[in-house]
Amino acid sequence: MIQEPNMFNRLIQFVRDEYRSNEFIPLHAPTFAGNERAYVNQTIDSTFVSSVGEFVDRFERDMCAYTGSPSAVATMNGTAALHIALKLVGVRAGDLVITQALTFVATCNAIAYCGAEPVFIDVEQRTLGLSAKALETWLADNARVDSDGLCRTTLDAKVIRACVPMHTFGHPADLDGLVDVCQRWRIALVEDAAESLGSYYKGRHTGTFGLIGTLSFNGNKVITTGGGGMVLADEGIGTRAKYLTTTAKRPHPYEYVHDEVGYNYRLPNLNAALGCAQLEQLEGFIAAKRVLAAHYIEFLPQVGLTPIVEPDNCRSNYWLNGVICEDAAQREALIDATNAAGVMTRPIWRLMHTLPAYEQARRGSLVESEWLEARVVNLPSSVPAPEPVV
Ligand SMILES: *Cc1c(COP(=O)(O)O)cnc(C)c1O
Repeated sequence: MIQEPNMFNRLIQFVRDEYRSNEFIPLHAPTFAGNERAYVNQTIDSTFVSSVGEFVDRFERDMCAYTGSPSAVATMNGTAALHIALKLVGVRAGDLVITQALTFVATCNAIAYCGAEPVFIDVEQRTLGLSAKALETWLADNARVDSDGLCRTTLDAKVIRACVPMHTFGHPADLDGLVDVCQRWRIALVEDAAESLGSYYKGRHTGTFGLIGTLSFNGNKVITTGGGGMVLADEGIGTRAKYLTTTAKRPHPYEYVHDEVGYNYRLPNLNAALGCAQLEQLEGFIAAKRVLAAHYIEFLPQVGLTPIVEPDNCRSNYWLNGVICEDAAQREALIDATNAAGVMTRPIWRLMHTLPAYEQARRGSLVESEWLEARVVNLPSSVPAPEPVV
């Protein structure tokens, strides 16, 4: 461990200076500095706060324009969006779905809701996202493409239906590599872009490379609707997503005809109003977050810590800034010192195969995931308030 005296005190002071605050500093708090109140009040004044209203349509249109996705369907949270995405690419009970062990539990839960089982593949240290190379290796050792065009395990002929990489902390995964492997192995690519709204890979928005991408607007994400999510897809899949998330109701002026088991996953108009106002400010939030990230990247090496930096050819939203500690002991010490001083920091998630629900899951080598799990800490990353005018 680096024995630099006061390294944590210097980090704490650095964060306090960035936020110009001696109060408690959270990991990620939302900013409401635009039309939030006006739009939310409009829904109340109109009485359309629930499942009908113009802000849902507008939020979806605005999100298409922002991401370049042909369609966008708003849902009540990001987990619901992922659940619907997996159903729409045909995931059913008994299937396998590949994902990373280094993710938030929602990714795996959506797989479990379909009655499918996750398969955990390693991430790359460089991107923190699913490794195309590790994926290829695991498939070559464990799977084949059958004459019916489906990818199956050689061991027990289970269908490997989908692959769900996640853009960790907003940093895009190796999409060229993942698109290539999934195409060759006939596996549907679904991007968990919950953390990466505003992040681009080679100039194209994350969540638009696979068959489907999903977003989250939970309170801690780069923009929030209170709770909310989005399914990004082509128009055909988008139409199906809208239908499945709105109780599978056949269009009719007054009759209630539902063709299959649908879901009540629609985003209420009240939440969409908040979303429209937040989306108007997104580019400003990202600009401020990228300035903050640049400051962290310059400062952290001065106290012997390694910052997590966006991958090449990408623009990351820097949703959460992260640091790689020397070892697990330094990680504990950093978390203890900062939280004791009222500067909130958190370790990266426990790896999914260590959780009771997923400890039986199949997996490849997870050496990089384990290395990162022992070392990564997230630092305060809210949009700093603008400089006061003097
Ligand atoms: C936030 C998040 C989700 C979705 O979360 P919701 O709270 O359901 O909106 C899914 N996956 C990842 C990786 C996330 O960070």
